[in-house]
Amino acid sequence: MSSRQLPRSLDPLPQESLAGFLLRISYRLGLSPSRIASLCELATPRRACSYSSLRSLPQHSVTHVAHTLRLTADEVNGLTLRGFADTYPALGRLRVGEKRVGTGATHNWAVLPSSRYCPDCLLGDGSPVQNALGGPWSTLWHLPVVFACIRHGRLLEHLCPSCGQLINGSSGEKQEIVKNPSMIGIHPVACRNRVPVLGPLRSLGKRHRSVPCGSLLDRSRNGIEASRSSAELKMLMDLQRRLLDHLHGRQQEKADNPLTRSNDLPGFDRRDPSCPTDVATGGGPPAFIAPGWLHRSPR
Ligand SMILES: [Zn+2]
Ligand SMILES: [Zn+2]
Repeated sequence: MSSRQLPRSLDPLPQESLAGFLLRISYRLGLSPSRIASLCELATPRRACSYSSLRSLPQHSVTHVAHTLRLTADEVNGLTLRGFADTYPALGRLRVGEKRVGTGATHNWAVLPSSRYCPDCLLGDGSPVQNALGGPWSTLWHLPVVFACIRHGRLLEHLCPSCGQLINGSSGEKQEIVKNPSMIGIHPVACRNRVPVLGPLRSLGKRHRSVPCGSLLDRSRNGIEASRSSAELKMLMDLQRRLLDHLHGRQQEKADNPLTRSNDLPGFDRRDPSCPTDVATGGGPPAFIAPGWLHRSPR
């Protein structure tokens, strides 16, 4: 086991993701997320912290991370999606890191590398620690079936309102759980995308051609739900509540698995005039439901 241990740490916030925790602890200690990941022995020669860490960590990594960050093993596992393996079996089918036709199978539809976000959750709950470092980035925001925040009654955002890019998303071959992990001093709820510099600085060389966006996402008031009617929003919140109940195991699984039949899509009643046409006519689920969710194999 690594003998390195951070001088101080933080308590994980409810449902906080490993990426979110790395952002908060690195900001608090004045280090980069990649440095923290390296101390936790999560780094590889090519990546600071692989995107596969969102799903789960092998036991030896759990031990190292727990020791370095002064957490318990349960707290470390709680930073990943491991606890949802039973209610979201697609997690177990990810072929992360496997070679496939000569290239790494780094991700599939089951987990999004980029995080969606609720600005109100990122604003925090008013406690001193959340006032200073922001609210939690939720593990669930990486699942395609989580598209709304029930607590705040709003749809999740997925783009930075300032630079218009995906949030904390990896790009190309770089499948990291934190965007630009070597950057230091970016607030945990700020956009880490790089944006091009225009003007005289650009002539100084390649290093000066882009700077961190830095836009605070807890101030984002894009209002993605503004284009939805109140009836649509209510229906979406009801659907999200039922999906979350299922993910948290609060819903008894029917023997014939209702999620495999569009007739029984949670939150939809075909006789309801507000039901989306594609569901009402038996044409399948609405577009915002990831197709794979509806094709689970019986367990
Ligand atoms: Zn929220
Ligand atoms: Zn941005």
